[in-house]
Amino acid sequence: MTTPIRSIRGMHDILPEDVCHWQVLEKAAEQVFASSNYAQIRVPLLEKTEVFTRAIGSATDVVSKEMYSFADRNGESLSLRPEGTAGVVRAVLQNGLLYGPVRRLWYSGPMFRYERPQKGRSRQFHQIGAELFGAPGPDADAEVLALGTRLWSRLGLTDLRLEINSLGTAAERRAYRELLQSFLRAHQAELDDETNERVERNPLRVLDSKNPQVIALLETAPLLTDQLGAASRDHYQNVKRYLDLLGIGYFENPRLVRGLDYYCHTVFEWITDELGAQGTVCAGGRYDSLVELQGGKPWPGIGFAMGKERLVELLRQKDDMAPPVVHAYLVAAGAGSTESALKLAYDLRAGSPGLRLVNNLNGGSFKTQFKRADRSGASLALVLGEEEISNGQVAVKFLRSDEAQLTLDRDEVLDWIRTYIDSI
Ligand code: ATP
Ligand code: MG
Repeated sequence: MTTPIRSIRGMHDILPEDVCHWQVLEKAAEQVFASSNYAQIRVPLLEKTEVFTRAIGSATDVVSKEMYSFADRNGESLSLRPEGTAGVVRAVLQNGLLYGPVRRLWYSGPMFRYERPQKGRSRQFHQIGAELFGAPGPDADAEVLALGTRLWSRLGLTDLRLEINSLGTAAERRAYRELLQSFLRAHQAELDDETNERVERNPLRVLDSKNPQVIALLETAPLLTDQLGAASRDHYQNVKRYLDLLGIGYFENPRLVRGLDYYCHTVFEWITDELGAQGTVCAGGRYDSLVELQGGKPWPGIGFAMGKERLVELLRQKDDMAPPVVHAYLVAAGAGSTESALKLAYDLRAGSPGLRLVNNLNGGSFKTQFKRADRSGASLALVLGEEEISNGQVAVKFLRSDEAQLTLDRDEVLDWIRTYIDSI
């Protein structure tokens, strides 16, 4: 006997008992997006590697360390998508969806990053994201932030903290980058090797270091917010004003940068304290230079991506989710019962789309079948014995209450079951 094959490290199965949490999240997101006229877009999981190196930047961890890249049979470098935005930008450019009216899009699906698997961090993970193209103003930023906020309240996730910051324009960020770099270089001796390497490669990334010594040093580091020009300050000011107007609470975090290079102006994260170290459930920002990086004429954009695993974990912790109920289990035994049951189930399902009905398979006595019905969690047993079949009837037994058994004519069952489903 060979041993069974296991899944790849960091790539998890989502088992049936968990799927209900995922669906709650997906359905709520779909409704929130629809209410602001965001349309879904679906792009490939696999793209030319360049889609990501151009957009995300080769100095980032995502591109330099985390991508699943390989040469295909023609020797072309392809990568599994590590995030959604780059591919969406590739798609909207390719399909001529830009340079006209505002485009509001959302996506959902798996992403792949070769990271160290741990709680809240896997190698195949799933995101839902939104992207808004063609609106450079702070009102668009407020729209996107309101979208996230509305989703959390729909899901009953009341303890998420919104942190915001402004990264200004690319030029302002470049100037700040130099300033920060010289500051950090002056403290080289106090910093660990990894941080010193970051100082050279991607100094802004040092700002979200987890190392206490680095954090302490950053207290005295120059702040990006102090380097912003008037227009950037004004943009940021307005975003905050709109959030105040909407009653959306936020914390300004002047050290909030994002891991990806393409962000400018407003960046933000929603964070929970309930998941330990991996507390960011949703992150995003404005990316006005991304379309140009991908080879298009400049066009503004802003968006966010949320980690579904982390949100599902929060929903699971709330634990007020009942698994979907099975309405009825069809018990059938005796001559002609297989045919009779097949037909009844087929007709009931056709006539009552909301019905969750389980057919009995593998035969068995009435006793065995009632045991299975009980284990299935069904509220009702629909019973077809020889007597019911020859009388053109169906018996209904209530499995979870003391209500008396009913006998219905076969042509009454559909109406009865519809009324029953409506009443529960
Ligand atoms: P982190 O700092 O946690 O690594 P990130 O900045 O790399 O996050 P983004 O690229 O902004 O993450 O992705 C948005 C969201 O997707 C994150 O806030 C998180 O909820 C989720 N996410 C990112 N990477 C993973 C992963 N490896 N496993 C599970 N969820 C993830
Ligand atoms: Mg990361």
